[in-house]
This record gives sequence, structure tokens and C-alpha cells, in this order.
Amino acid sequence: VRSIAILTSGGDAPGMNPAIRGVVRAALHQGIEVFGINRGYSGLISDDMAPMSSSSVSNIVQRGGTILKSDRCEAFKKPDVRASAAEILRARGIDALVVIGGDGSLTGAHLLQQETGIEVIGLPGTIDNDIFGTDDTIGFDTAVNTALEAIDRIRDTASSHERHFLVEVMGRASGFIAIHVGMAAGAEMILVPERAIEIERISEELAAARRAGTGSSGIIVVAEGPEPGLTYRLAQQLKEHGQDPRVCILGHIQRGGSPTGHDRVLATCMGAMAVSYLGAGYSDIMVGVRDGQILDVPLEDIIRFRKGLDPTLLELALQVHR
Ligand code: ADP
Repeated sequence: VRSIAILTSGGDAPGMNPAIRGVVRAALHQGIEVFGINRGYSGLISDDMAPMSSSSVSNIVQRGGTILKSDRCEAFKKPDVRASAAEILRARGIDALVVIGGDGSLTGAHLLQQETGIEVIGLPGTIDNDIFGTDDTIGFDTAVNTALEAIDRIRDTASSHERHFLVEVMGRASGFIAIHVGMAAGAEMILVPERAIEIERISEELAAARRAGTGSSGIIVVAEGPEPGLTYRLAQQLKEHGQDPRVCILGHIQRGGSPTGHDRVLATCMGAMAVSYLGAGYSDIMVGVRDGQILDVPLEDIIRFRKGLDPTLLELALQVHR
């Protein structure tokens, strides 16, 4: 491998910058040239890229977002557009592409490799931690800590006004963020898509806690779920059962901010490892981490299999948080 390109795609995540830095510095160290592609696949198909130097990634390790910008690019879902993307890379003498993004972005990378032979390595960059084959994703730890800080503040006002708050956290169809945030924030309840929501039970428990004098206020962490508007619907249903919860949607706050030390180390290691894998002839894989070890996961697997919430973690969390 003599020349590689790198892009960030899909939902941004804190830690994408240290990942870019890890790839660029490790590649330059090995005498490999690196092109930075702007705005994900949109920039790739419009040939919007420039060579990166060691100083182009100086002073970014602590910054949220991505210096390369991110985008969603519908056109990249078409095979002929991917074929022309490969031509653009070849015309510049680029042998391999590193893609940092979620499962959608990694699906695009896999198809590019399969159809055109361009070598690809993926890095799991998403706050949702919903990618198969890896215990952790770049941005998850930061998002959990950001949500936690917000909930600690909400708890102050919940307690002063003796109210319950439904706090919605991100995570799409998975409850990873909700379970972690709920446990860390000491939530009274955690509602995740992996378990049916029983309005009657929730409302009875809230009423019972109030009567017992143990629960005049509290935090209920709600995973956003696949359909928008879930938390407002829950609040309405609880109102119909005599409760009066407030709603707080944390939203995009969770995607921003300076990455935690954990995410910076994870991203740097994964970035450097992506370059090692390319040097060793690997392609069509994602760099993952399992039981503390960095490993390669075939991109085909992350597309084919869905990552489920660890049942033991869910069980333990629900013993404490209902
Ligand atoms: P994420 O990578 O965070 O999961 P998306 O699912 O929005 O985010 O995907 C980001 C981009 O990846 C899309 O805009 C598109 O360019 C590309 N992509 C997603 N799914 C596919 C697919 N099935 N085939 C080709 N490209 C895809």
C-alpha cells in the first residue's frame, strides 16, 4: 500500500478526530501517503480530497465532531456511482480507503470493495454502540458521559419540584446508551426497545413510590427507539394514568463535545491498527475490540448480524432500575 484515503460518514461521533489522527500519523510513519476526503461519500464521488500531513492533524485530538466533515450520500447506494468512486481513487493512485462511520457507512465500504476491488478498512464510529462484532464504538463513552452530566442537572430540578422526568437518550433501535446512562445516573427506571413498555406497571410504581414517600421525584431514562416521538407518547399515556411527568429530549447534545480519554485512546489505537491491517494485506474488515483486544471483523458479518444488548447486563440493570 503506497497511498490511502480516509473519510468520515453518517452520524458524527466524538472521537472521529483522534481516529483520523491515528490513521494519518501511523500511515505517514510507514511512508504511506494519505488523502483526506471531505464530507464522506459525497466528497469521494465529487473528488473533493487533499493530501494530509502530520500537522493537518495537530491539535485535533480533543475536538468533537470531525475535521473532515460528515454527510449522508444517497447516491452512494447506487452501484454505478460506487464504480465511478473507484475510478476517482484509482486516477489518484489511491489503493485503499479507510471509512469511519456507523453500519450504513460500513455497508457502503463493503459494497465498494466487493464491486470494485478497492481495499477498504472500517472503523466503528457511532455513539450508539450498535455495531456487531465489537464491544465498543468510537464515541459511545463520550455520549454516555455527556448524557450523564445532563441528567445530574435535571435531577436537581426534578427533586426541587418533586417531579418525574422522562429523559430520552439516543441509540436508535438499541438500548445501549440508555442502559449505561440509566445505571450511571442512578435512574429510577430504564425503558429500552429490548423490553416491552408496560404503562400500567410504570404508573402504578410511580404512584406507590409517591405514597410510600420514597419517590416524589425521579428520572426515567428512555431509549429513543426506532420511531420518533416515543417519549412524548409515553408522557401522554402516563398523564392518562394520573401521572404528570416532564419530558426532556437530550438529542444532538449527545453527539457533540470533547471525546473522553477512553474514546481518544480507543480511536487512536483503532486508527493505527487500520494502517497495520492494510500493511498486512487485510481488507474488507472493520477494526473492532473484544474483551480488551483489538481484532478484525469481516464487514460482511457486521452487515449480516445485529448486535444485541448483553442479556446479563440488561437483567442486572433491570434488577436495580426496574
Ligand atoms: P451510519 O453510517 O451512521 O449508520 P447512515 O446509515 O446514514 O449512517 O449511512 C451513511 C452513508 O453510508 C449513507 O448516506 C450512504 O452514503 C452510505 N450507505 C448507507 N447504507 C448504504 C448501502 N446499503 N449501500 C451503500 N451505501 C450505503
